Amino acid sequence: MSSFLHVEWTVRTVETPRVKRPCGRCGHVQPFSSTGKFRLNANGNRLDAWLIYVCAKCGNRWNRPFFERRARQSISDDLLQSLQTNDPALARKVAVDLPTASTGLAADTDMAFSIEKKLLGLSVESDAPLSLTLLNPGACRVRLDRVLAEGLNLSRRLIHQLADDGVILLIDGSKKALKKPLRHKMRVNFSFEPSAVPDLRHRLFGLVHPLE
Ligand SMILES: [Zn+2]
Repeated sequence: MSSFLHVEWTVRTVETPRVKRPCGRCGHVQPFSSTGKFRLNANGNRLDAWLIYVCAKCGNRWNRPFFERRARQSISDDLLQSLQTNDPALARKVAVDLPTASTGLAADTDMAFSIEKKLLGLSVESDAPLSLTLLNPGACRVRLDRVLAEGLNLSRRLIHQLADDGVILLIDGSKKALKKPLRHKMRVNFSFEPSAVPDLRHRLFGLVHPLE
């Protein structure tokens, strides 16, 4: 018996802007995310401060200069304390405000995000086994195929393959919407559970037991 499952995903931005730069460990350009932590170094009367980033793929660290070789007396006690305690407000401000253009760094256009999953409905009496509503209340700038890929833990290539095969059906648009930014309130249906992804229900909502 097929059962109907309606799940809602709410997508939210979780991070400050990422920066694209070459990663020494990965060997090519990767997005780096701020850890929200600072590193301070004193050299005589001079201080250096960096905001620590990590490669989104491999976790390799990169210290992004905030200021370098500044005289201790030119730094307020408040700022020093914020750096020493990794003040979240300061870390956010630095990550948002630091210019990328002058440093030859590229901002990553796709933002990092989180997905909150909620079960909206469950029934055993439907031909449309799986339905997903996507909410984007904060207008997080991210492509639909990336949200589906990360939310289902599948490759983007497989997401497009499933759309080509008619498994993934975009209710208010064509397949082209996969490559476009996620809108608020989008509806995606899954016409059946494909053999390539036998645990689709689990991936949609993290169900421990498959529904019969
Ligand atoms: Zn890396």
